[in-house]
Amino acid sequence: MKVARWYNNRDIRIEDMPKPVPGPQDILIKVISCGICGSDIVEWYRLPRAPLIPGHEIGGVVIETGASVPGYHPGDRVFAAPKVPCLKCDYCQKGRYPLCTEVKDRLPGGFAEYILVPGQLVAKGMVRLPDRITYDQSTFIEPLACVVRAQNLATIREGQTMLVFGCGMSGLLHIKLAKAKKCDIVAVDINPKKLEYAKRFGADLTINAGEEVPEILTAHLGKQAEAVILCTSALSAVEQAWQCVDKGGTVVFFAVPDPDKKVEIPINYFWMREIMILTSYYCGPPDIKEAMNLIESESVTVDDLITHKLPLMEIAKGFQLVLEGKDSIKVLIEP
Ligand SMILES: [Zn+2]
Ligand SMILES: [Zn+2]
Repeated sequence: MKVARWYNNRDIRIEDMPKPVPGPQDILIKVISCGICGSDIVEWYRLPRAPLIPGHEIGGVVIETGASVPGYHPGDRVFAAPKVPCLKCDYCQKGRYPLCTEVKDRLPGGFAEYILVPGQLVAKGMVRLPDRITYDQSTFIEPLACVVRAQNLATIREGQTMLVFGCGMSGLLHIKLAKAKKCDIVAVDINPKKLEYAKRFGADLTINAGEEVPEILTAHLGKQAEAVILCTSALSAVEQAWQCVDKGGTVVFFAVPDPDKKVEIPINYFWMREIMILTSYYCGPPDIKEAMNLIESESVTVDDLITHKLPLMEIAKGFQLVLEGKDSIKVLIEP
């Protein structure tokens, strides 16, 4: 079978690998659609494990099941989580699933014709897709689940004011989810095309990052924002974020600057205003369930985020599109 092996963003090779054979508890699935995630192109994050087969946002069909796997049959349409928490350790008990210390199995990379889903993941991370969720829509379950988790951590509720920095894929998903909660949403980006998307998907006001963001925001809301979500690694956005959060508000690092960049926190100013700074990483089983419900019920639409669909052979082009970030939102690979 063909797989795409990532050495770095400019060196992605199509290689041959033997098609895996499922053990008694495993399932072999054929990948129908797999999304390129913003995190797939973050080299400081991915290089320590390279070369690797990336791809963790999948929709697939069961081809073969191990001898002792109950409940699944060839032809079943499925989603599989990239990794699953144990649900038993201290972190899991507190709902901090991404911090689980017992994660052992990872889903093999989805930029491949087939993937072998290990028994642990079959038992706890695989779900049959409802008829109303297509394979392409399935690739949004994991990214939307991460967005659901971040907004839950920040307790973003109906009617609140929210400011999003960065209107790529994850920023737009944040906007769509906040729109479903009837929030007042302001979106910032440097790219006018992305601001157009932000407007179309629910932003009440868009501001170009080159403008006086804090002033324009305050003029629109009458005060600063209750929640500020960073969906860009730009340091300039972090500095603007500090000036845009209301007292008692929250700044969420959904994306972070590169590790060699220093973030300065105006902690004395924040102290008297009880401003919270949160990080949010990955998602947990309840978030995946909620994301599936949101997609199935069309409370959050995702088809309108797909800008490109490419065969596996053209994956290097797909990565290039995501890296440039100009004309693409969601790039799907269809192995
Ligand atoms: Zn992802
Ligand atoms: Zn755990």
